[in-house]
Amino acid sequence: MATHTTRMLIIGSGPAGLGAAIYGARAMMAPIVVQGLQPGGQLTITTDVENYPGFKDVIQGPWLMQEMQAQAEHVGTRMMWDTIVSVDLSGPPFRAVGDSGDIYEGESLIIATGAQAKWLGVPGEMELGGKGVSACATCDGFFYRGKKVAVIGGGNTAVEEALYLTNHSDDVTLIHRRDNLRAERILQDRLFAHPKITVLWNKSIDHFVGDPLAGGLTHLALRDTVTGENSDFATEGAFVAIGHAPATELFRDQLEMIDGGYLKVEPGTPKTAIPGVFACGDVMDHVYRQAVTAAGTGCMAALDAERFLADLDFAKGQTAEVAA
Ligand code: FAD
Ligand code: NAP
Repeated sequence: MATHTTRMLIIGSGPAGLGAAIYGARAMMAPIVVQGLQPGGQLTITTDVENYPGFKDVIQGPWLMQEMQAQAEHVGTRMMWDTIVSVDLSGPPFRAVGDSGDIYEGESLIIATGAQAKWLGVPGEMELGGKGVSACATCDGFFYRGKKVAVIGGGNTAVEEALYLTNHSDDVTLIHRRDNLRAERILQDRLFAHPKITVLWNKSIDHFVGDPLAGGLTHLALRDTVTGENSDFATEGAFVAIGHAPATELFRDQLEMIDGGYLKVEPGTPKTAIPGVFACGDVMDHVYRQAVTAAGTGCMAALDAERFLADLDFAKGQTAEVAA
């Protein structure tokens, strides 16, 4: 069991955590990144990435994250194979305990633990992931241009995904398990008025059908939630949009949360209510949830952490002068 100390402790190794690390390391903060169970974050479970700036050709998500980590390490980041199991935010220093038993102490703390899309958990969903089944229309909608697509869910996310997909498809169907939507009225109005969108009410997905090795998704096996009747719905692209679960359980009772568990930050900044504790990426952003926005807010968190540490150093200097 060891204690690791740093000026900048970063929890999470996705684009937000590594974006913060690159800026922190270049400012000589010798950051520590605790990687968690998914080193590299969500992009490591996808294939083609076409919207990260700087690459004309299609790149692979896992490759992009390896490059980000290599850059972070090259400029002085220390990467730790560990998962944080508890935190004490009463500092600075802020204290985190790893699954390994190691203790991490940071004079500043950057939380970049991300969010995971919720899945239906029905047969075929995982097997056809990336082969017709997706949880991110902004990321994958382009791959289904000109095709008939479906969105599953009835909240703001589902309606926004359906509206977004009309940029790529003339035939979008929103499939919802009840007969009214949870989404805000203004979004519902836009959805119902849209000529490219149809809504299929009272239907749940029994399973996804297709061959992952030959052509991918072909149709959805549906069940009517009122009559129990079964039916098939032909589609090559299905977007599961039933919500996201931000990884914030660690911070419960220590940081304020909004919108179903996202960390609350001062608008337009990565600052939480605790000075010296910052949140960036999907863990605080239920709206954009993109690699580039995650990396961007990671940068903001590191810059704000640097300012916080400079103020801390100044205050310590003043105290020392008074004591002398
Ligand atoms: P994440 O990438 O979720 O990383 C979170 C990190 O926190 C992980 O490293 C995890 O191990 C760590 N962590 C969590 N809990 C702990 C803990 N207790 N202790 C230590 N570490 C912890 N975006 C795009 O811009 N373009 C795309 O093409 C695109 N495609 C996508 C395809 C798929 C299938 C998915 C799921 C997402 C896609 N996205 C895409 C979205 C993008 O991946 C996310 O917006 C981005 O990864 C968020 O970055 P993040 O760093 O905030 O969080
Ligand atoms: P949400 O509001 O929780 O809605 C989830 C939807 O998925 C619900 O319609 C739910 O059905 C459905 N669902 C859940 N589990 C399901 C299952 N197993 N099978 C079938 N359907 C299932 O999630 P969200 O839309 O992601 O929104 C999350 C939060 O972020 C909300 O606070 C939302 O306002 C916010 N948000 C805001 C914006 C914005 O302001 N523009 C955009 C996106 C999200 P039921 O309705 O039957 O429960």
